[in-house]
Amino acid sequence: MELKDKVIVITGGGRGLGRAMALELAEKGAKLALADLDQEGLDETIALCAEFGVEARGYIANVSDEDSVVKLFNDVAADFGALHGLVNNAGITRDGLFIKVKEGKVVSKMSLDNWNLVMDVNLTGTFLCGREAAIKMIELGNQGCIINISSISRSGNMGQTNYTATKAGVQAMAVTWSKELARYGIRAASIAPGFIGTEMVLSMKPEALAKVEATIPAKRLGKPQEIANTVAFILQNDYVNGRCIEVDGALRL
Ligand code: NAP
Repeated sequence: MELKDKVIVITGGGRGLGRAMALELAEKGAKLALADLDQEGLDETIALCAEFGVEARGYIANVSDEDSVVKLFNDVAADFGALHGLVNNAGITRDGLFIKVKEGKVVSKMSLDNWNLVMDVNLTGTFLCGREAAIKMIELGNQGCIINISSISRSGNMGQTNYTATKAGVQAMAVTWSKELARYGIRAASIAPGFIGTEMVLSMKPEALAKVEATIPAKRLGKPQEIANTVAFILQNDYVNGRCIEVDGALRL
């Protein structure tokens, strides 16, 4: 897909990886619809995209809320009259051990609230946005591509029972969608980033972060730009479909 003048939705586009993706696609001439909970972050990303002379609009939307997601895609279709791509990027963590035991006694457990919160945003949010994007692409007669942002943690990681389950899920959903939606000219793929230097990672405890960095064969965190490049690559290459691209500096958890 040639990106010039194509309409791409990025969830969580207000900051972090979503902002880097928006700037990369803006530089390539795409029109951007950025969804986030935070107006200030959206405004900043939009101002940065505007420097490339492309149309960029912000939408306050909660990806875990069905009405909000349906409204988001209706609004995007009305504003742009087309839809060619979605990056399911919005995501959260609520890390904690599955169970914590001290001197033979269980002292804490992962709460159902923290399980549900992460499921709602990462898994249900990706499901709802993917579904509504596919509906709009078909209704508008556009071919396109959906990218789910998974994680290196998708294969299991200490302290992330909730997050790992969602990131395995979004990768599997992309495979399913690639099979179901190919007949409509819609591709789906996923990206599994390693540890990338955004707020999500930089807010880890310094000891934990130093430990992670030491184990990365590349000996550094990934750059948001390195994930943004991968998004552009998948969107542009029409034969990438159903697969997960790992961008992790060779780290294995
Ligand atoms: P981030 O800096 O925390 O940004 C996440 C964005 O998602 C924020 O703009 C946030 O909005 C938005 N968001 C959260 N909940 C939302 C909701 N319910 N509806 C709409 N937007 C919502 O995270 P990041 O590091 O850029 O990560 C982006 C994606 O990459 C996530 O899916 C993450 O799991 C994945 N990932 C990141 C890394 C990494 O190393 N950074 C590694 C692997 C995978 P607010 O600003 O309002 O909170």
